[in-house]
Amino acid sequence: MIIGIDLGTTNSLVSVWGEKGLTMVPNALGEFLTPSVISFDEDGTTYIGQTARERLIAHPESTFQEFKRDMGSNRRYEAFGKQYTATDLSAILLRQLKEDAEAFLGEPVEDAIISVPAYFTDKQRAQTRNAGLIAGLRVSRLVNEPSAAALYYHANHLQDEEMYIVFDFGGGTLDVTLVDAFDNIIEIQGISGDNHLGGADFNHVIALDICKENGMELQNLTDTQRAQIYRKAEEIKMELSNTPEVTKEFAIADEGNALDGTKRFTYHITTQHLVDISTDIFNRVAIVLKRLMNQSGAYEMEDISGVILVGGSSKMPAVRTYLYTLFKDKLLYDENPDEIVCRGVGTAAGIEQRSIGAKDLILTDICPFTLGTGIIGDVMSPVIQRNEVLPCSRTRTYVTVRDGQKSILFEVYQGEFHQASKNTKLCEIEVNVPPKPAGEVFVNVTFSYDINGIFVLELKSPYLEESVRKEIVNTLGLSEDEIASRRQRLEELKTEPPMHGRRMELLLNRAERLFAESDSQQKYHLARHMDALRNCLARGDQKQARQTADQLQKLMAYIESHMFQFDVRDAGLWEDYVNKEDEDQ
Ligand code: ADP
Ligand code: MG
Repeated sequence: MIIGIDLGTTNSLVSVWGEKGLTMVPNALGEFLTPSVISFDEDGTTYIGQTARERLIAHPESTFQEFKRDMGSNRRYEAFGKQYTATDLSAILLRQLKEDAEAFLGEPVEDAIISVPAYFTDKQRAQTRNAGLIAGLRVSRLVNEPSAAALYYHANHLQDEEMYIVFDFGGGTLDVTLVDAFDNIIEIQGISGDNHLGGADFNHVIALDICKENGMELQNLTDTQRAQIYRKAEEIKMELSNTPEVTKEFAIADEGNALDGTKRFTYHITTQHLVDISTDIFNRVAIVLKRLMNQSGAYEMEDISGVILVGGSSKMPAVRTYLYTLFKDKLLYDENPDEIVCRGVGTAAGIEQRSIGAKDLILTDICPFTLGTGIIGDVMSPVIQRNEVLPCSRTRTYVTVRDGQKSILFEVYQGEFHQASKNTKLCEIEVNVPPKPAGEVFVNVTFSYDINGIFVLELKSPYLEESVRKEIVNTLGLSEDEIASRRQRLEELKTEPPMHGRRMELLLNRAERLFAESDSQQKYHLARHMDALRNCLARGDQKQARQTADQLQKLMAYIESHMFQFDVRDAGLWEDYVNKEDEDQ
């Protein structure tokens, strides 16, 4: 069974193609979305997904998110004396996704197809594969995210040619891609985007607005308080996707407030107001769309058969209304736009398994950089040009330049510099040739590059004793041994908290977050419940733990809904509630 993975910057998802077609695979918490967040704890426990996300406020220094942005870079994330690359963190996440899929499917999973942004470089693709390998997954193929989205929409009507714009608005990135889908070929025609534009920007404008309404400055708050406001802002934004207006009253921690240790807010917002305060965001979206159309000059708006809305931020009515003014009824909107890429990757897995009829879909790609050889004078002689459609194969003929030359050295580079040595050298091959006058001896060099980053170099000539064939599989920088040792390291990480179980961990982490937002009296009761739960867990008393967890959950729900209306000095009401809880115990 091959699983399809959307390894996202903000959220990751898994799907499979089984007998009944496509199935989204839930994680251990029953959710399709696993936040791409990893958190390390002092005692060596590693938290992944929602439990890690809950720790962002209380343990920001050892909790990491958005590491996909650093794939292929040298950045090191450090926690408790250990260092991790973005590849390591991705591997930890992938291993969790693999285990969750195994638990759901009831069988071992060893193969995966993973999606990557279309603009990912070769190195970033190689690192994504490496992360899979470290997690114990053979990555049979990488699929571009927009190709996956187009595949999902196109899989049912393979006959017609369709030109799609894939509009993928995620947590921190906007990727807009022109994708041509015809018969069994899906081809990327143009890419545009903004690497720092996404849902987080809406959270930011709402956070600013909350502060403004309450006579405060966002930058004057502490880091923790800011994180709390951002969290509220995101909740409010998501609620606004279901109702045209939201009114909220809430509190954040404030140690300076001697009365009850909180700072209180009231806030009201409508979709129209969100549109008004987000003009900058929409202007930037417009720039990205314009760039795509300019770049793909050959295509007009009438050529576009559909605009596929992808990504969590595409759920926002404000975003959809804006796009509607531009594309009218060309908008293709699915109930859950944040699942589209994953559904496409799962479909690709079905194709790979040959489960989908006899249709053999070819997903093409474009070459993200130029491949060529260095020639005399340190000049780059391109063989495959950047942006050429993959898979592709190109041949160039090279001749000797000196009389009596006995060998030819081929240095293979990738990169855009005219000066060959400034580019990345992939390999060099020297072949012997018979000495003859300059220009008389020739060698044909063929570069073949497929969409999985496998690059084959072939040298053929009647002057060579035998043809040379060299495969350059780009695992850039990681040898088999290194992968094995990093996998070992990963296996040493304690991921599943021993007795707690993930539901308990999630609950405790949520409680800790609420704790930070609560006033002193609420804190007191939360702490009591949390300690009680921790004690049960430490004793291994599962039955009592479940009961205590239920009570904690009730308490949290009560605090959340009475955060503001409830007056802490009205102790009677509070004690009534707690006493009742105590009686239950
Ligand atoms: P990525 O592709 O970056 O991993 P997603 O496509 O999952 O991320 O999008 C995540 C973003 O979508 C977050 O900023 C989140 O706040 C936003 N989002 C998710 N659901 C909603 C919703 N119902 N309304 C508004 N925004 C949402
Ligand atoms: Mg995404």
